[in-house]
Amino acid sequence: MRTEFLVFGSPYFGPEEEEEVLDSMRRSWIGTGPKVKLFETAFAQYKNIPYSAAVHSCTAALHLSCLALGLKPGDEVITTAMTFCATVNAIIHAGATPVLADIDPVTLNIDPEDIERKVTPRTRAVLIVHFAGRPCKMDEILAVASRHHLYVIEDCAHALETEYHGQKAGTLGDIGCFSFYATKNISTGEGGMAITHKSEWIQAIKIMALHGLSADAWQRFSDKGYKHYFMTELGFKYNMMDLQAAMGIHQIKKIDLFWQRRSQIWQFYMDRLKSLPVGLPAPVDPGSKHAYHLFTIEIDPSKAGVSRDRFLEEMTKRKIGVGVHYCAIPEHPYYQKRFGWRSEDFVHAARYGSQTVSIPISPKLTDRDLEDVVEAVSDILSS
Ligand SMILES: *Cc1c(COP(=O)(O)O)cnc(C)c1O
Repeated sequence: MRTEFLVFGSPYFGPEEEEEVLDSMRRSWIGTGPKVKLFETAFAQYKNIPYSAAVHSCTAALHLSCLALGLKPGDEVITTAMTFCATVNAIIHAGATPVLADIDPVTLNIDPEDIERKVTPRTRAVLIVHFAGRPCKMDEILAVASRHHLYVIEDCAHALETEYHGQKAGTLGDIGCFSFYATKNISTGEGGMAITHKSEWIQAIKIMALHGLSADAWQRFSDKGYKHYFMTELGFKYNMMDLQAAMGIHQIKKIDLFWQRRSQIWQFYMDRLKSLPVGLPAPVDPGSKHAYHLFTIEIDPSKAGVSRDRFLEEMTKRKIGVGVHYCAIPEHPYYQKRFGWRSEDFVHAARYGSQTVSIPISPKLTDRDLEDVVEAVSDILSS
């Protein structure tokens, strides 16, 4: 057995990131500054889209996207029952009302037919998640949205490299939001980005991310001389720092390298776990690119002979870090109390959420680490 604990989803930094962070510290410009601008430009280039705004988290990007689109109290936003709570909370913080749709049990993505069923005269937007990095059925979703005049926000926290029919995730809907949290495909510790084709929305996001101050207020202390600034909106403190962007501008150059390793790991697990009594991810659609953010296996106790929660404990005992992505949204007591959501009404999300386990998939993993993961899984299932 391993002697060292294998951390789930650990980020992968090199000397380039280290040097760049030190450079910011030595220059004493650590807050929002030129490196944030560089990171925004590099990200927009990667996505081949004109506008980008770096913020402190994907949650902030989602929240500000809702506000930039003008969502307000009384408006309904349809989102998926299988996601991280931040997706749903962004809608609530914007003052709108979240409405859940169930998932497709094979792709684990929001079911376009259930979106259609949940549309009411108050629906203004859909907030979709490309789950684990697999693109949603965007043709169907965009068709529903256009029939009912709805905005589409893409939560791309899992979907940095994702493509759908040759188009990059985050550029298909109205605004795309990305995360650079520690476990995501590239990381700045905490961090997020919003991208869009519309300059008006990105301007709104940038202003709201810095207290609602007039644009470029961050330059007020620069060598160009002191500038007065005025508040035009009631904004938030959501700006990204240069310290974060220092990591980002080097991480973004490594996207393809990281993705290739994730892709290898994915194939390795598919191959080595296929004869075991666990559910494996559906094959990747031809014509789409999976970001391989999560590798999730399903532990059905009647087949695996062990409960999901027991399996989590046993993996931890064998020094393998695991995750659960996620317990279904209606399982959270807060939402039950506030919206009256019940798991029984979202059968696919509830079943998946009760059986899923994420095993490590990160470019930092060595071949030896991967053997240890497979060995631990086999060992638990055969005992
Ligand atoms: C991680 C994550 C978020 C939140 O990202 P932060 O950058 O941590 O705010 C939102 N949605 C999904 C699906 C996520 O996985």
